[in-house]
Amino acid sequence: MARYTGPVCRLCRRDGMKLFLKGTRCDSSKCGIERRESPPGQQQNRRGKLTDYGVHLREKQKVKHYYGVLERQFRRYFHKAEATRGNTGDVLMSLLERRLDNVVHRMGFGQSRSASRQLVNHGHVTVNGRRCDVASYQVQVGDIIRVKNRAKSLDRVRASLAESGRDVPDFLSVTESDIPEGIVSRLPQAEDISIPIQAQLIIELCSR
Ligand code: SF4
Repeated sequence: MARYTGPVCRLCRRDGMKLFLKGTRCDSSKCGIERRESPPGQQQNRRGKLTDYGVHLREKQKVKHYYGVLERQFRRYFHKAEATRGNTGDVLMSLLERRLDNVVHRMGFGQSRSASRQLVNHGHVTVNGRRCDVASYQVQVGDIIRVKNRAKSLDRVRASLAESGRDVPDFLSVTESDIPEGIVSRLPQAEDISIPIQAQLIIELCSR
């Protein structure tokens, strides 16, 4: 069979690994990385071996792209993680995972993080009964995330839930009802992160 040489999403091609940036497409056979027989490393090989700094930087860029945060926001998360008791890498990842747009995505309400951010920004989601359009809102244990009870919101989320075959992580639980809703049952931990990240490399880079 001829080797697939078609397109692979730019950031995944650059990092040579799945970054899960395109929602359900990433879990389907349409994913360019899955379709290639070998990892898309041709460009990387041309660039040569990454330096130690490059390896650290790539890990940070990967996380920023994955959660869709810019450098300044990312620094804020890092400083907050540093000031919190516990393993700084684990705390950092937990803070990112607790973003409302990420939680909406992981509940299956939005097909990708960017689609979920749009759902939040456009007011389609409520937290504990109140409209919340802040994508960076940090969810707390016991928070109830519900889709707004109006046709436009419900149609979008139901379409996403119908297509999403995504497993809901253990720290969330989603209720199958007329109005989709989910609850944050505990704070996310390292094992709840769905991409392979070496958080320690990021901490080393940011601490320099
Ligand atoms: Fe594209 Fe997702 Fe596959 Fe990456 S994992 S190449 S974003 S479809």
